[in-house]
Amino acid sequence: MRIGVLGGTFDPVHVAHVFAGVSARHALGLDRVLFTVANAPWQKADRRITSAEDRFAMVAAALEGVDGLEASRIEIDRGGPTYTADTMADLAAAHPGAELFLIVGTDVADDLHTWERVDELRATATLAIVSRPGAPPVPMPGWRTATVEMPLLDVSSTDLRRWVGEGRPVDGLVPPGAVRLIAERGLYALTG
Ligand code: ATP
Ligand code: MG
Repeated sequence: MRIGVLGGTFDPVHVAHVFAGVSARHALGLDRVLFTVANAPWQKADRRITSAEDRFAMVAAALEGVDGLEASRIEIDRGGPTYTADTMADLAAAHPGAELFLIVGTDVADDLHTWERVDELRATATLAIVSRPGAPPVPMPGWRTATVEMPLLDVSSTDLRRWVGEGRPVDGLVPPGAVRLIAERGLYALTG
C-alpha cells in the first residue's frame, strides 16, 4: 500500500489542492491520498481560522467523486495542536508495511525546518514536492524525495478568503460542493 498525505488548513480548499493530490497520486502510483485537515494549525495562530468541522466538510465535498482522494479526520479526532509528525506516526501504526509519502508544495518544503520533530518525519515518509515542470529541485538534505510535476496554479486560500469577503464569486477556483458550503454556512463573510 502506497499512501500519500496532503496536509493543510484548507481554509478554504481550492483547485490547486485537488490537482496537487491528483498529480501526486498519478506520478507516484499511490493507492490513496489522504487530505489531512489540520485541527489547530499552530503556525497560523495569528489569524482567525475557520472551524475544523467547516474546513473538513469543504474538503470532503471537494473530493467527492475524485478517485483515490479522501478527506481525513485523523488530526481533528486527535485534537490539540496539529503536528504532522504525530499524523505520520499514527498512520504508520495503523497501516503496517505501507509506504508513506508526505506531499507538499514548494512553500512548505522551504519551511519544513521550522516544523516540530522533523527528524521523525524524515524517518517515516518520502517527501513528495509538487513543483512546476522544469523547476530546479528544492535541495532537501537528509530526506528521501520525489518530485511531482504540476503547472503553477497561482491560487491561494488567502486570496479566496478575501474575495469571498468582498462578495466576489469563486466558482472554478473552489470545487462546487465547497462553494455551496461557503454560501450555506456564511463562511468568510466580512461581518461573519
Ligand atoms: P493559505 O493562503 O491560507 O496559506 P494555501 O492556499 O497555501 O492557504 P494551505 O492549506 O496552506 O493552502 O496548503 C496546503 C498544501 O497545499 C501545502 O502543501 C501547500 O504547499 C499546497 N498548496 C497550496 N496552494 C498551492 C498551489 N497553488 N499549488 C500547489 N500547491 C499548493
Ligand atoms: Mg499556505
